[in-house]
Amino acid sequence: MFNPILRRKSRQVKVGHVLVGGDAPVMVQSMTNTDTEDIAGTVKQVAELARAGSEVVRITVNTLAAARAVPEIRRQLDAMGVNVPLVGDFHFNGHKLLTEVPDCAVALAKLRINPGNVGQGSKRDDQFGVMIQTAIKFDKPVRIGVNWGSLDPELIARMMDENGQLAEPKEADAVMREALIVSALESAAKAEALGLAGDKIILSCKVSAVQDLIAVYRDLAGRCDYPLHLGLTEAGMGSKGIVASTAALSVLLQEGIGDTIRISLTPEPNGDRSKEVIVAQEILQTMGLRAFTPMVAACPGCGRTTSTYFQELAESIQSYLRNQMPIWKSQYPGVEDMHVAVMGCVVNGPGESKLANIGISLPGSGERPVAPVYIDGEKAVTLKGDKIAEEFQTLVDDYVAKTYAPGAVRKTTSRRKEIPIKQIA
Ligand code: SF4
Repeated sequence: MFNPILRRKSRQVKVGHVLVGGDAPVMVQSMTNTDTEDIAGTVKQVAELARAGSEVVRITVNTLAAARAVPEIRRQLDAMGVNVPLVGDFHFNGHKLLTEVPDCAVALAKLRINPGNVGQGSKRDDQFGVMIQTAIKFDKPVRIGVNWGSLDPELIARMMDENGQLAEPKEADAVMREALIVSALESAAKAEALGLAGDKIILSCKVSAVQDLIAVYRDLAGRCDYPLHLGLTEAGMGSKGIVASTAALSVLLQEGIGDTIRISLTPEPNGDRSKEVIVAQEILQTMGLRAFTPMVAACPGCGRTTSTYFQELAESIQSYLRNQMPIWKSQYPGVEDMHVAVMGCVVNGPGESKLANIGISLPGSGERPVAPVYIDGEKAVTLKGDKIAEEFQTLVDDYVAKTYAPGAVRKTTSRRKEIPIKQIA
């Protein structure tokens, strides 16, 4: 029997104007890789990430100059009409920066605190306390973001000692996983004890191995009701980073775990940082959790396709649809649910095209050079000649305008329905 996704029930936290957790949809976030002291460069990249669909953007705040730059970055983004909430990523000296530059805290929508990097020994609690008091003073939420690579060494030592005294000690990896969770939960408890409200806290426990991430989040999800930020840290480059992130996050999301996600891809040199946003959106959309942009179904091609024509058409239509979304989103509500098919031959072409809102079946080798187009399950027109791509794009434009204009009667035959998503009571 088909099982709907049951979302874990968490508290809801407001990050600027964006809701995280509770019944809010899983939120997409990203992080800049610019030097925050470079105001122009950071503003430009934040705007690009926001335009790509990032609903929250995190920036590094690592120096006094970076902290001083944050209010100006916020001001310039607002002046451009980019209202994406900014999160400050603090390590080691966050307590000092927030004390010396309170306007930095004012300009941020959330503070990310890594409990493994807030100081050692007796200073640790004081420095953590300063950051929490800043969050309370300026009414900001925090993400307590634990990371495998910077786990609190004192906590690990304590837990390893305790484990060593057990009659049947656990494996070191299991102690490490437990230490991640304990670090997050103990830090959240300390923050609440200092006066930070429970609905101002988001937790994350990031690791770089898929199975560890799944195990840690399953455990963490059952031990608290804070919203959880998911991400495979240091996922890597290219297809490896995408596959590893998707493998880990999709298992957790399918189990209803995760309220906000980030894909930590390493971009190619001079590569597009927005790729991580697109991957995050595609994970959520292909799982049926959210819709962001119309999706193109395309066959892989085989010996029946002797040219790259259909691959180019599939690629150009997918890019066209994504590029249109900033305009279409407001003009044509619901267009993000549209399905388009671009198929390579008559074997599966007509069948798949009929199941999409609009689909085209291109001629394979040996077939007549014609391309039937199916709209809402019916053959609407047959294209031929050397302008098939342009004519198909025009048909897509017409379909969108007719089908998704406010007040239009929508007749959809797409078989790809949203997966019903419920919340665990
Ligand atoms: S639809 Fe045709 S071209 Fe595409 S993979 Fe199937 S058989 Fe090959």
